Amino acid sequence: MFDIQKIRADFPILTEKVNGKPLVYLDNAATSQKPQVVIDSIVNYYTKYNANIHRGVHTLSQIATNAFEESRTKLQKHFNAKKNYEIIFTSGTTHSINMIATGFSAILNADDEVLVSTMEHHSNIVPWQMLCERTGAKLKVIPMNNEGELLLDEYKKLLSSKTKVVFVNHVSNALGTINPIKKIITEAHKYGAAVLIDGAQSSPHIKPDVQDLDVDFYVASAHKLCGPTGIGILYGKEEWLQKLPPYQGGGEMIKQVTFEKTTYADLPHKFEAGTPNISGGIAFGVAIDYLNSIGFDNIAAYENELLQYATKKLLQIEGLKIYGTSKQKTAVISFNIGNIHPYDIGAIIDKLGIAVRTGHHCAQPIMNFYNIPGTVRASFAFYNTFEEIDLLYEALLKAKMMLE
Ligand SMILES: *Cc1c(COP(=O)(O)O)cnc(C)c1O
Repeated sequence: MFDIQKIRADFPILTEKVNGKPLVYLDNAATSQKPQVVIDSIVNYYTKYNANIHRGVHTLSQIATNAFEESRTKLQKHFNAKKNYEIIFTSGTTHSINMIATGFSAILNADDEVLVSTMEHHSNIVPWQMLCERTGAKLKVIPMNNEGELLLDEYKKLLSSKTKVVFVNHVSNALGTINPIKKIITEAHKYGAAVLIDGAQSSPHIKPDVQDLDVDFYVASAHKLCGPTGIGILYGKEEWLQKLPPYQGGGEMIKQVTFEKTTYADLPHKFEAGTPNISGGIAFGVAIDYLNSIGFDNIAAYENELLQYATKKLLQIEGLKIYGTSKQKTAVISFNIGNIHPYDIGAIIDKLGIAVRTGHHCAQPIMNFYNIPGTVRASFAFYNTFEEIDLLYEALLKAKMMLE
């Protein structure tokens, strides 16, 4: 049973007013709101058992270590990793991708190629461009069609024995497209290429099974999954995590240090230098528990109803054009109305309490593809309602009237 009022009651921010109006939060692709259990877990850690982890002999340190490591195990189960040490805590998706792109510097040379898709977030483009600058490897781009779907035949043509890494998002944050990642992974593996899937935008809606996907790396940020900012994960297959060099040197990641030679700690600590975001790691596990208590199938089904309703409703507005019309998509609607600048629409509807994102959504190549400066993006979560979509519709009509 999907009880929307009960769910909304879990999120204290949803009763806030913005500019004198009830908040209508439709910027979930940028970050999600947090349920009280997640907020409480952070307060609880700092109030009752704040201590550094993995090192202390004292009781609080052990309690904190257990809570942090239990959270790792929850994430292992959620993503279905084979080993809990294949789950590395990072500060988020951006950090996770940089760790891998930097690690590949030690492996690639100038004859190698790496493949990216047209619809990536800048986080999944720039670190690889930096890798190519360091190694001389070539970056090639998988094209897409007007609906915002990757062209798989073109992708297959780009693959060769020179391809060493393919990095594609599971879901596009700007278009909502759900990419056929299993096919993408299978094709890359035929040439021995590793695949990194950016799961920042999919993980709030889809429960991925990393073993079934046979993916080499899968990355996500807690803050898009009802967790706090500053914490995320890198899932990596054990063989890859063994092969890649550590990203940062420091405490926690060593086995033994002398001035002659330092040996690195075992996984996952090899990739977790320094004191981590302890409360964040614990809260991430609480957020995952919370989402699983609602159920990812229930979340996806409800959000899809919101998407269908909102798509129909918004298309009633004359001159409104939606970018990203893939058959497989999450509840993201990127649009423009006539020639009105997206920023102006966003600013007006903000006065009516409605939070949407405007601009290029950290995906400028997509905007270049459509030859537009940006879009207005309404992105829905399982705590949004059909009434909120009606409010968005009314607000857009008002904005259109004022701006046209
Ligand atoms: C949000 C997002 C990122 C970046 O995540 P951070 O939490 O800012 O590191 C990367 N890729 C996609 C698809 C995203 O939606």
